[in-house]
Amino acid sequence: MKKFVFATNNAHKLEEVKDILGNKIEVLSMGDINCHADIPETADTLAGNALIKARYIYEHYHMDCFADDTGLEVEALNGAPGVYSARYAGDAHNSEANMKKLLQELEGVENRKAQFRTVFALILDGKEHLFEGIVKGEIVKVRKGTSGFGYDPIFVPEGYSQTFAEMGNAEKNKISHRAKATQKLCKFLKSI
Ligand code: IMP
Repeated sequence: MKKFVFATNNAHKLEEVKDILGNKIEVLSMGDINCHADIPETADTLAGNALIKARYIYEHYHMDCFADDTGLEVEALNGAPGVYSARYAGDAHNSEANMKKLLQELEGVENRKAQFRTVFALILDGKEHLFEGIVKGEIVKVRKGTSGFGYDPIFVPEGYSQTFAEMGNAEKNKISHRAKATQKLCKFLKSI
């Protein structure tokens, strides 16, 4: 059976990928290979950060592996917060502060268009591959809903009237950026 390391510490992401891949491909977490590194994400693009994490595993453990990075890209802010989404309002990964800052930046701005974008970097037999998933939508003026995480309460996907946080995880995960990127990665892995 083919075996891959998913360079993440996020148990939720690991389960999501395992669910889509089924039992034909084995996915190991960083913990499974005894890797407890906090790999610095110092690139200025999503693909760059995903590659940093995948290359770290490949170089230190010589195993096939993949990693992801996600950002919220707001059109009126020239793609910000983008690769800096987690620490938009400072270093603390504070979703409340991040949303507050974004709503302030967009005060009085008519164009509310935004998209979530996820990039997966895969290293297979030393060769690098990238997979992207995008969901387009809008930033609303008032936060709504309590499920999900991050910017979910202020993002309404195109064709819907509820925010990701009002929708609930099951529905969100059918159409989300991460689900789309994960499906592309998994389709590729199943084809090899
Ligand atoms: P990560 O690369 O998946 O850790 O995502 C970076 C940051 O983007 C997170 O800390 C969140 O602020 C934001 N983000 C990523 N995915 C989502 C999502 O599905 N909903 C809301 N915010 C997200």
